[in-house]
Amino acid sequence: MNCPTEEKRGHAIALFSGGLDSALAILLMLKQNIKVTAITFMTHFGCDLGDRSSCGSNPYPAAEKFGFNVKLMHLGQKFVDIVRNPRFGYGKNMNPCTDCRILMLNEAREFMEMSGADFVVTGEVMGQRPMSQLKDKLNLTIKHSNLKGRLLRPLSAKLLPPTEPELSGMVDRDQLEAISGRSRKRQMQLAEEFGLDDYPSPASGCLLTDAAYSGRLRDLLAHSECINFNDLNLLRVGRHFRLDEQTRIIVGRDESDNRKIESYWRPEFVCLEAADVGSPITLLIGEAGDDTIEKAAMVTARYSAARKESQVEVLVSQGDAERKIVVSPATIEEAGGERIE
Ligand code: SF4
Repeated sequence: MNCPTEEKRGHAIALFSGGLDSALAILLMLKQNIKVTAITFMTHFGCDLGDRSSCGSNPYPAAEKFGFNVKLMHLGQKFVDIVRNPRFGYGKNMNPCTDCRILMLNEAREFMEMSGADFVVTGEVMGQRPMSQLKDKLNLTIKHSNLKGRLLRPLSAKLLPPTEPELSGMVDRDQLEAISGRSRKRQMQLAEEFGLDDYPSPASGCLLTDAAYSGRLRDLLAHSECINFNDLNLLRVGRHFRLDEQTRIIVGRDESDNRKIESYWRPEFVCLEAADVGSPITLLIGEAGDDTIEKAAMVTARYSAARKESQVEVLVSQGDAERKIVVSPATIEEAGGERIE
């Protein structure tokens, strides 16, 4: 769709998740002979970058098919900071969608200024998402990303005030869309017109919209002043239990969890496993004394194949030392802890 021989009318930086809406926003620009550089953002919580139709989808197939460039940008610690302390609050779970949009738009604006581009494009649709895409929220994100007049939402553009590229004639407003609400009928029609046939079905958002993940994250933030990316990766696997204010355990649910838990092991963690039977790998994280190690061993035994035995041998690895202790299997409640939810 990009025509290399014809001089471009302008240059847009597009937020691109790989999903349907952000792809259509780009295609509407390419159709008007606007050069598009797409940015796909990544975070430690999965990615839902330009619209509701994707969470971490591969941006490259559409980019190759339609001829535009994609830049991957990891939001790293900046994103963790807004999750810890969002200016505009959380959605239903730990998802700080408004702050997230503002951060992504600010990154896009900086990239636009650096690369001499003219405006920013997103696949946002009016009224599609309860929190991030109501008109007030759309205006709020414009204000706090310093993009007044330079943020074009081609899918809903005719319902919004004209932006600078429309006013200057760089973009023909008549060829933009007036989509609002949750129906995706018009998007499907456009996808067919553009020959966009390979797009993911709508996803609900990043991991922060997941209640269980959010519960674990809330607990982690409440008990740790500093969190690192390994901590965040560990939230994705296993059963999580708190033994006391200082310690928590992560217990593998299956072989795949066990392998992941092992890969996130750090020398300061205590690792436990029932000896010689099918067993979860358990990580004990925090200030571990003999008492907490015993409790962690009891819970590990409870989830092992020897759960019905009265005494189970559990292998404890701490630093370079390994030892075996014998415990009675116990639920987390019996061990005096609680499930993190
Ligand atoms: S669901 Fe919300 S917080 Fe998560 S990536 Fe999407 S906009 Fe950001």
